[in-house]
Amino acid sequence: MNYLDIKYFTILEMDNLKNSEKIIYKSDFKYENFELLSLTFNIDDNYSLILQIKCKSQKELDITREKIGIIRNYFDIAKPVIESKILMSVLKENSHKDELTELYNRRYLDEFVESYENKNKLFSILMLDIDFFKRVNDEYGHDMGDTVLKEISKIIKKSIRNEDFAIRFGGEEFLIFLFNIDPLNAIKKANNIKDEFSKKIFTYENESFTKTLSIGIAHHVIEKNTIWQTIKYADIALYKAKNSGRDKIVEFTDDMYKS
Ligand code: GH3
Ligand code: MG
Ligand code: MG
Repeated sequence: MNYLDIKYFTILEMDNLKNSEKIIYKSDFKYENFELLSLTFNIDDNYSLILQIKCKSQKELDITREKIGIIRNYFDIAKPVIESKILMSVLKENSHKDELTELYNRRYLDEFVESYENKNKLFSILMLDIDFFKRVNDEYGHDMGDTVLKEISKIIKKSIRNEDFAIRFGGEEFLIFLFNIDPLNAIKKANNIKDEFSKKIFTYENESFTKTLSIGIAHHVIEKNTIWQTIKYADIALYKAKNSGRDKIVEFTDDMYKS
């Protein structure tokens, strides 16, 4: 009999380059004791899939073990489909990323806003802009400018949690979405990013220089504002920071909008 009935299993995708794994399927399994059978399938040089089958008893494990050949056959047949699915998800991920900084781009932001409206998580938005960035390009060249952009992106990525995300919003302008954070902690995080960036010493031939950041902060008020409005408020606060001397953090307040 070639019939195979596997009810409880997990499929993990291993990215060998990044040395990371993610669960792509997991069936409900309510038993505490089980025997685990783990099989690895190489998809290509970068990816492999790991199938973990949970068996309720030693007997079930033995029966499943006898069927390993069938399972491997099944994967061989499904391999082209799995390969193209992985490729599609890599392409999708890339189309959402900015090449230079590897942060998300505006397309990602558009899709996020479109799909978000029904959720009610709290968040704060930081809008960052490097002060007098154009001078880096003018004085040290475009490549040095790119180096500065990569450095701020690195600091941003390091500073935010998994559930947060950052967007390269313009040339030297970035948006950070911080979820479920209270306003004081959002300001603290902005301060940390600002301090870390201003401490970074860039060197160009025999010269060295530092740069500063201006940051506008707005806290999203559910049911009062749309996300675009909150982005606009962060922009207004940033504008205020720029106009009152740069190298500072300004939190949006309602009176800024009216004046
Ligand atoms: P401010 O303090 O008012 O923000 O002044 P700024 O000089 O930082 O701002 P401005 O908007 O005048 O200049 C931004 C510059 O960023 C102009 C543009 O040439 C440069 N830029 C945009 N994208 C890139 C990029 O990918 N690489 C480099 N090297 N420069 C870029
Ligand atoms: Mg700037
Ligand atoms: Mg700018």
